[in-house]
Amino acid sequence: MSEGLRDLYQEVVLDHGRKPRNFRKPEGANRRAEGVNPLCGDQITVYLTLVGDRIEDIGFEGVGCAISKASASMMTGAVKNRTRAEVEALFEQVHAMLTEGPDKVDLGKLGKISALSGVWEFPARVKCASLAWHTLRSALDGASTPVSTE
Ligand code: ZN
Repeated sequence: MSEGLRDLYQEVVLDHGRKPRNFRKPEGANRRAEGVNPLCGDQITVYLTLVGDRIEDIGFEGVGCAISKASASMMTGAVKNRTRAEVEALFEQVHAMLTEGPDKVDLGKLGKISALSGVWEFPARVKCASLAWHTLRSALDGASTPVSTE
């Protein structure tokens, strides 16, 4: 395995991919959105319990590669109990990290999600890592059409 690939599949990423956190439909979820990444075959449904402006609970279900599952798993942990504005700010940071590189963001503020900072060197995996975030945004917007990365 090349050094770059080792960086991509860090232990924390593999662990979240194997044992995704919040892999469930929360009781009382009042928002949901579906997302697909046809390039890789990743499919995800994100469920939210949105109370006012705050994500009180979040879960997801779906099938996909280790990167897509790890990203969704880490995302659910990062956005629980956050407001829409906080989630939007986090989304911008994650998106910049994935598309422009880790030098463009403050990795310290991203916590565990920074484990995905190697993804930007693998353009084919960027969509895997960003799928959950786009789907979350769609759930917050209340959109009824499925998200596709294509
Ligand atoms: Zn994937």
